Amino acid sequence: MAEAYKIIDHVYDAVVVGAGGSGLRATMGIAEKGLKTACITKVFPTRSHTVAAQGGIAASLGNMGPDHWTWHMYDTVKGSDWLGDQDAIEYMVREAPAAVIELEHAGVPFSRTEEGKIYQRPFGGHMQNMGAGPPVQRTCAAADRTGHAMLHSLYQQSLRYDADFYVEYFALDLIMVNGECKGVIALCMEDGSIHRFRSHATVLATGGGGRMYFSATSAHTCTGDGNGMVLRAGLPLQDMEFVQFHPTGIYGAGVLITEGARGEGGYLTNSEGERFMERYAPSAKDLASRDVVARSMAMEMREGRGVGKDKDHIFLHLDHIDPKVLAERLPGITETGKIFAGVDLTRQPLPVTPTVHYNMGGIPCNYHGEVVTLKDGNPDSVVPGLFAVGEAACVSVHGANRLGSNSLIDLVVFGRATGFRIADIVKPGTPHVAVSKDADDFAVSRVDRYRNAKGGTPTAQIRSNMQRTMQKHCAVFRDTALLREGQGQIDNIFGSLQDIGITDRSMIWNTDLVETLELDNLLPQAVVTMHSAANRKESRGAHMHEDFPERNDAEWMKHTITWFDKGAVRIDYRPVHDYTLTDDVEYIKPKARVY
Ligand SMILES: Cc1cc2nc3c(=O)[nH]c(=O)nc-3n(C[C@H](O)[C@H](O)[C@H](O)COP(=O)(O)OP(=O)(O)OC[C@H]3O[C@@H](n4cnc5c(N)ncnc54)[C@H](O)[C@@H]3O)c2cc1C
Repeated sequence: MAEAYKIIDHVYDAVVVGAGGSGLRATMGIAEKGLKTACITKVFPTRSHTVAAQGGIAASLGNMGPDHWTWHMYDTVKGSDWLGDQDAIEYMVREAPAAVIELEHAGVPFSRTEEGKIYQRPFGGHMQNMGAGPPVQRTCAAADRTGHAMLHSLYQQSLRYDADFYVEYFALDLIMVNGECKGVIALCMEDGSIHRFRSHATVLATGGGGRMYFSATSAHTCTGDGNGMVLRAGLPLQDMEFVQFHPTGIYGAGVLITEGARGEGGYLTNSEGERFMERYAPSAKDLASRDVVARSMAMEMREGRGVGKDKDHIFLHLDHIDPKVLAERLPGITETGKIFAGVDLTRQPLPVTPTVHYNMGGIPCNYHGEVVTLKDGNPDSVVPGLFAVGEAACVSVHGANRLGSNSLIDLVVFGRATGFRIADIVKPGTPHVAVSKDADDFAVSRVDRYRNAKGGTPTAQIRSNMQRTMQKHCAVFRDTALLREGQGQIDNIFGSLQDIGITDRSMIWNTDLVETLELDNLLPQAVVTMHSAANRKESRGAHMHEDFPERNDAEWMKHTITWFDKGAVRIDYRPVHDYTLTDDVEYIKPKARVY
């Protein structure tokens, strides 16, 4: 190693990496049980991407009309295009109402009905009567700033507990000993010191990796760092080919306009002024699930009915809605429309286009948050000491396509479940075994290599090459030729990391270095995403393969898992759980998916 780095030691019962909705909920739950807990986060907790969630959180409270958890379950399974694990889905939808009431008691300022109940709005793919319709009002909302309200309440609550926060610490790598996780190594960005956190349970709550793509609704910090760490630890990621494009990102800026806009009555039109969703989804129309709406928009543009001089976007109309309703229920996007599109949406339509929004894939785990892998023929083999929650995880409740407002509920339900599991497994104050220096050496040598990298290609250029390749070759529509070319390109771009050069060599707030470490997490994910997409020869949910346009349950109703070893991708499969958690509900059999 080029120079000695000072390593500061910490010892905890449990460590959570990430302070978004899922990380904070897990931290609270673990600390509440009397375990010595640390929460490490690269941004201040209330700046996590959860703060940007707009539309709401799904739970079958039935405040606005009839609803039932079995209906929510049906919609989630159908939304997942039957790739979701039904035991985990049952767990989530049954726990959802209590989880929302818990948030209400934690202080989340939900919008209210006349009688003072939590206001709920319609969202895509959420229906009454086991999918039969009409749309159900299931999405609990605090205007169009639900994530903001939720994250602030969760952070305030988490300060009640005796957890230590390490803010603006960048987690580098897991400490793995004989296949077990023993903690994590992190870089304090403020002074460049390296910290070794030893713990009996390590929870990755590091969010999604939307920034693999050029145009994404997610924050620039959404670089899937936990997923990168997992791949480097020799563990697989699951279902990475399923990337959600949200139908309504503002054209050009990529900023999100919540599906709640359509929930409140907004609709899409093409260049002929036609409400084209009536053709693609005659019953749900603009409230069909996201993959269906995004594909329909892409079809309209492809067939020359996009709006604008390049026919490359679509209009979203809210101008028919009472401005008082807009001001009350959608104040945030009214402002966003003005700032990012220069549009007064009480009078004009907003230019929108499908934009990368969510990773259905991630770190495979069960509904207790325990990370699992395929080992010795066992597809549910638990990796001791390692947990994953939130968008970083693939439980899998969202399967091939997530329904809107089902992520926020996933965060709190599985954040809480993970806390319960850890409290069951770890006794407070359990002594730690000695660990060798291998993990520190590995993490520190990566930092050192990048800090001193003198190659000819700047980080920003490699990142831009990756983002453009993903955007072009692994988007809403995919085909064999596009994907094959994409595989070659992304592999080469990964290779170009060897020639990376950075200019800031300091250890004090070195953003050049941190962005490079983020790229080092993003690129392997981009490679496995492209290879998984090329490998899946069917169309399901968000993965539309034009040479295999049908869903093929006989061959492909299975989770893809991918390992990544120095540029080489290995693919295998885990079965989809075709059973429920209890006998209260029957397994929902696959059907054609029409809206
Ligand atoms: C614009 C937008 C609107 C959305 N609206 C909705 C909605 O209305 N309803 C819904 O259900 N879903 C919505 N989603 C999706 C949902 O908000 C996200 O999936 C969810 O908030 C992710 O939460 P998380 O806890 O997994 O991670 P995040 O909130 O992304 O937080 C990640 C955390 O990990 C930390 N971290 C990451 N890497 C490191 C590292 N290397 N070291 C240390 N810390 C690290 C970060 O500091 C951060 O605290 C929306 C998403 C976006 C982008």
